[in-house]
Amino acid sequence: MTELTSEAFRSLCEEAAVHTVEVAIADTYAHLRGKRVPVGRYFDEVADSGASIADAVFILNVRDELIDHETVNMENGFLDTRIVPDPATGRLLSHRPGYALVFCDCFDEHGALQELASRSVLTAQVERCRALGVDPLVATEPEFYLCTVADDGVWQPVRPHIKYSSLTDAPDLEAALADMRAGLAGAGLNVESSNQEYGPGQIEINHGPAAAMRAAEDCILYCSIVKQVAERHGMRATFMPKPFTEESGSGLHVHTSLRGDDGANAFADSDGSPNELMSRWVAGILEHAPALSLLGAPTANGPRRIRPYTFAPTHVHWGLDNRTVLARCIVEAGSAANRVEFRSAGADANPYLLIAGLLAAGCDGIERSLELPPMAVGDMYGEPGDCAPLATDLSGNIDAFEGSAMASMLGDGFSRSYVSLAREEERLAAENNPDPDEVNDWERARYLEFS
Ligand code: GLU
Ligand code: MG
Repeated sequence: MTELTSEAFRSLCEEAAVHTVEVAIADTYAHLRGKRVPVGRYFDEVADSGASIADAVFILNVRDELIDHETVNMENGFLDTRIVPDPATGRLLSHRPGYALVFCDCFDEHGALQELASRSVLTAQVERCRALGVDPLVATEPEFYLCTVADDGVWQPVRPHIKYSSLTDAPDLEAALADMRAGLAGAGLNVESSNQEYGPGQIEINHGPAAAMRAAEDCILYCSIVKQVAERHGMRATFMPKPFTEESGSGLHVHTSLRGDDGANAFADSDGSPNELMSRWVAGILEHAPALSLLGAPTANGPRRIRPYTFAPTHVHWGLDNRTVLARCIVEAGSAANRVEFRSAGADANPYLLIAGLLAAGCDGIERSLELPPMAVGDMYGEPGDCAPLATDLSGNIDAFEGSAMASMLGDGFSRSYVSLAREEERLAAENNPDPDEVNDWERARYLEFS
C-alpha cells in the first residue's frame, strides 16, 4: 500500500467535505484523546506544527484519576507534549460524516519522542524488526459485549442466552452490527466478517492484517467506533475483559507473521510445523509470556479470564490448531497465511503496547536463537504437564513484568511508569474487591464504560 501524503489526505478530506480533523493519540489504556480541529486550520497549521496536550494523558487511568508519578506531577507542572500528525495515518470517519482522524507522534520538551507514549514504544520495536530484516504483519481480534443500561445504571448483556455464530438469532442486533461493519470499513479497516461469540450479547468483528503500526491503530479505532455506533443504537459496548463472572471473557487475540525483504511471508515454507525463523519467533513469545501478561491484562479484571476451560490459556505453551494453547500456530505447507496467534490478552489491552511486547519478544527469540519447547497436544487445561502457569491476578502479572527483560526492552522510563499505574490498580482492587473469583459491582462500575 502506498503511504498517504499530507496532500493526498487533504484531497480525501476535500472530496468527503470534511469540516473537522481529529488529531489523536491513544493514552496508556488505549483511550483515544486529542483535539478536534477545523479542517482549514488543520491543513494551514496543525498538519506541520502539531498541537499540544498535557503530559498528564500518559498517566491517566481508566477513570482519569492522576496517580503519584515520578516525572509527571505538580512539581514539574504537567508539561505540554507536542503531538505531531503522521499524515500516513489519516482516515475518514464514515460513521460521523464530516470528520477525519489522524494519529500523532508525541514529543517531549526536548523534542525527543515522548517515552511514555505508547506509539513511541511500538515505533522502537518496529525499527528493531526492520534492523533484523523482517517486517511484521499483524492482525487483532477484539471481542466485546453489547449491553443495555437500565435506569438504575445496571449493565445487562443485550441477549439472555448464548447462540454462537447464529445467523437466525438476534436479527434486531443486525442494524447496529451492519453500521459497525460499515463504520470500520469507512475508517479503512479491511472488514472480513462479524459473528456472535460464545457469550450472551458477545460479538467479534474480524478484520484483515496490516503492518504493525497500522494494525495497532486499526484496533484502537475499532474499539472507539464500535462504542460510538452501539451508543447511537441505544446500547453500550464494553471491552472490559471479564464483565460477568459466569460468562466468557473478551479476549484480544493477536496474530503475527513476518515478511522478508521480498515482501513474502517468511513463515510460508513451514511444513506442518514452524520453520526455523517461526520457531525462534514463537520461542521468544513463550520466553517472555509471563511479562507480556501485564501488557495483555493491565488491570485487576483482565487476569480473571485466565481460568481453565474458558478458551483463554492458563499456561505457557504452543501448539498447532488448538484453542487451549497460549501460542496457536497456524501452519500449512507453503501457505502465505502462516502465523502465530497469541491468545492470552484481554480486550482492554493497549494494542500499541501489546504488539510492541510481542515484537520485542519475537525479536529476542531470533537474536538469541531460542529453541522452541516441545509442542503441546490435546486438552492443555486438563494436562498442562510441566508448562509454566500464567498468573491469575494482577499482582502476579506486575511481578512478572517489573524488572524483567521485557520491561527493559520496552524502555525503563516507560516501564516504571506503566508499573506505577498498575500498582495503583492493584491497590484499588485489593481494597474494593479482594475476591479472586467474583467480578463485583465496584469492578463493573470502574471498567465497563471506559474499557
Ligand atoms: N472469549 C475467549 C477469550 O476470552 C476466546 C474465544 C475464542 O477462541 O475466540 O479469550
Ligand atoms: Mg473469538
